[in-house]
Amino acid sequence: MIGLPLVARGKVREIYDAGADRLLLVASDRISAYDHVLPTPIPDKGRVLTQLSVWWFEQLAPVLASFGATHHLISASDVPAEVAGRAMLVRRLEMLPVECVARGYLSGSGTAEYQRTGSIRDVALPAGLVEGSRLPAPVFTPSTKAEVGEHDEAIDFSAVVAAVGAARAEALRELTLALYSRAAEIAYGAGIVLADTKFEFGVSSGGALVLGDEVLTPDSSRFWPAATWSPGSVQPSFDKQYVRDWLTSSGWDRVSPPPELPADVVAATRERYVTAYEQLTGRRFG
Ligand code: ATP
Ligand code: MG
Repeated sequence: MIGLPLVARGKVREIYDAGADRLLLVASDRISAYDHVLPTPIPDKGRVLTQLSVWWFEQLAPVLASFGATHHLISASDVPAEVAGRAMLVRRLEMLPVECVARGYLSGSGTAEYQRTGSIRDVALPAGLVEGSRLPAPVFTPSTKAEVGEHDEAIDFSAVVAAVGAARAEALRELTLALYSRAAEIAYGAGIVLADTKFEFGVSSGGALVLGDEVLTPDSSRFWPAATWSPGSVQPSFDKQYVRDWLTSSGWDRVSPPPELPADVVAATRERYVTAYEQLTGRRFG
């Protein structure tokens, strides 16, 4: 037992009250897909996601500083022993009600939107792009932060302005794109295409933007091996796509309780998460 009050339990993480201005974010080995938590955990997933986030916070600190911003991580080591390795002690923030998504490549719902409208949100795109295409420049495609049980909803920039004000909306867009670009450059150097990712920001008591939540993990990003990148079809990936594909082929209807994952699917999924960590950071996962 962690001797702290539980504040909230998400599909994947538990949040504890760690004092007036602090939270303890604990990542479990649970995996979600299509808005369901699967009954089978992926061993080590919580540790991989936490350690990858911690690594990225360090990499991105200079970009944040150049915007007068910071991140929320206080410590990943000063945490209760029973959650060591999969917990972060963070500054408690007033979170902004926007999921800040950046896309450098066309994929998933971005492809669907482009095929319908020729643009993504208010950004017009050239003709002829396909699933997996690199965009001429990264685009900011925000969505709402859905209440529990609801889907995130795509919104355009004017809705961000309405939610947080014009100056802050502009700052969110600039910072999101700068963080994405730097992260994509780092990932590419490690042989990984960062197709897209989602950030969440809060505001410090002094009014500065603070990068919160987890960052640049396979749960919040699309990672593709650069060596096999080839636009025109769904790309091989280090993220959840493998599990989604297995669920689809199992015949599950996405409504009834999801099926248990077979041992080989669990092992192959764990392998993808660990490979993403090791390839990006250049460190052995242990
Ligand atoms: P889901 O189960 O769909 O993921 P969720 O996003 O609410 O739901 P988690 O991601 O597990 O659940 O929980 C993290 C929550 O903590 C998010 O609501 C996130 O916005 C919030 N959060 C992240 N960092 C901070 C912070 N520093 N201060 C306050 N809240 C934070
Ligand atoms: Mg979340």
